[in-house]
Amino acid sequence: MAFAGEQFADDLHQYKRSPREAVRKEKQRRLAAVLANYLRTHERCVAAACGVPHFDVVTSVPSTRGLDPHPLSTMLSRTIGQTSQRYRDLLRVGANRGNRVLDPDRFDTDDDLTGLQVLLVDDTWTTGANAQSAAARLRLAGAERVAVIVLGRWFDADHPPASSYVSEARSELFDWLTCCLDRSPHGGF
Ligand SMILES: [Zn+2]
Repeated sequence: MAFAGEQFADDLHQYKRSPREAVRKEKQRRLAAVLANYLRTHERCVAAACGVPHFDVVTSVPSTRGLDPHPLSTMLSRTIGQTSQRYRDLLRVGANRGNRVLDPDRFDTDDDLTGLQVLLVDDTWTTGANAQSAAARLRLAGAERVAVIVLGRWFDADHPPASSYVSEARSELFDWLTCCLDRSPHGGF
């Protein structure tokens, strides 16, 4: 969970937006470690929840603001061991990039994904329109299952619809080994 004004939300902003390269690199290393730890422990849980044995392909949501290469793509294809061999840059920004509703035409792909199980990664979930539109495009290209994971769910505690959920979420301490899907405990790393 990425709360406006707090460290994780700041990391998710700075890793691609800081004007200082050293800051971007440091944040990218930290976020790559977070993602690698999560995938090591819970990727199999996400696959099980989708009813698939594993994900054949890992890809990411491209930047609608012109970041190329996107640092998340670099992290998944080079830094994170579990994903580097499976990573494919499948999506590019399509014609309808501006709206905030689910629309597969926000993204394009030239790839035929028939029968593939795809793990789609994004950095921040705000309205969900970006990730869901990307997932819809992958399904239209033939993907059998698409799972989305995000580094951070954006929350602004001052936004009234979020405030009740935020207080409930804050009452639960984060634990790497407690599954976010069913709260079951996992073994060690
Ligand atoms: Zn799990």
